[in-house]
Amino acid sequence: MWFHEAKRIYVVPIGKIQWWLLTEIKDHVQATFGKETVIAEEISMPMELVNKARGQIHSTKLIELLIRQNHDGMALSVIDYDLYVPGLNFVFGEADPSEGMAVISITRLKNEFYGGEIDQALLLERALKEAVHEIGHLYGLRHCPDPKCVMHFSNSITDTDIKTKEFCSLCRSMLESVEG
Ligand SMILES: [Zn+2]
Ligand SMILES: [Zn+2]
Repeated sequence: MWFHEAKRIYVVPIGKIQWWLLTEIKDHVQATFGKETVIAEEISMPMELVNKARGQIHSTKLIELLIRQNHDGMALSVIDYDLYVPGLNFVFGEADPSEGMAVISITRLKNEFYGGEIDQALLLERALKEAVHEIGHLYGLRHCPDPKCVMHFSNSITDTDIKTKEFCSLCRSMLESVEG
């Protein structure tokens, strides 16, 4: 199945996620990809997936767990727990295009993670960028060398702040060629 042909995109909270943030993500995803987007029921935090030595969740294992929830569309999960994949200290998110499943973590998108003041506007901006980035992968887009393009890989929060939540013209045209 080509997941970008799915009827809708689900935004799936894992554990408690602020409702305003989920709503903003949902609205922005719907506007960006032109597909009905709905907030799905909350999934409880899978504490069994926590790597206790690292204090993080292996994001690929999390995606495997989410696949078994069996949504009839593409899904973007949102978690407030730090994620990693072996070989990287952390990841902001991960996508599995063959399963139509993506996840973002908001833990490192918070200004207070870096010792700053709580900044909801900044959290929202960063969350929208990472959400569009991961769903972009579900549409088959790869990482883009343009540091302003939303498909640019974020190695650090600085990369996230430099990129915009927009696709560059090349990525935009690739997206339009697959959009149903
Ligand atoms: Zn990526
Ligand atoms: Zn691009």
